[in-house]
Amino acid sequence: MQIKHYFLILAALHATNAIAQDMSAKEALVDANIRSIFYHELGHAVISEMNVPIFGQEEDAADVMSVLLIDALYEEEAA
Ligand SMILES: [Zn+2]
Repeated sequence: MQIKHYFLILAALHATNAIAQDMSAKEALVDANIRSIFYHELGHAVISEMNVPIFGQEEDAADVMSVLLIDALYEEEAA
């Protein structure tokens, strides 16, 4: 998957935020896990495609990237 595909998925995820408002607790948990996995994988794509230098394990860097993206893109309560 090319990085542009991840950004298209990112746009789609943001488009579904309004729908996410009416979810049950279980649905919200599943939604949050899918989103966190997506941002982790997006972190791998950014590291790979943009040759981002990492210090340590790439899995840890992808986790940090996902946290930074979620912090930047979501309101505090939603994050
Ligand atoms: Zn990973």
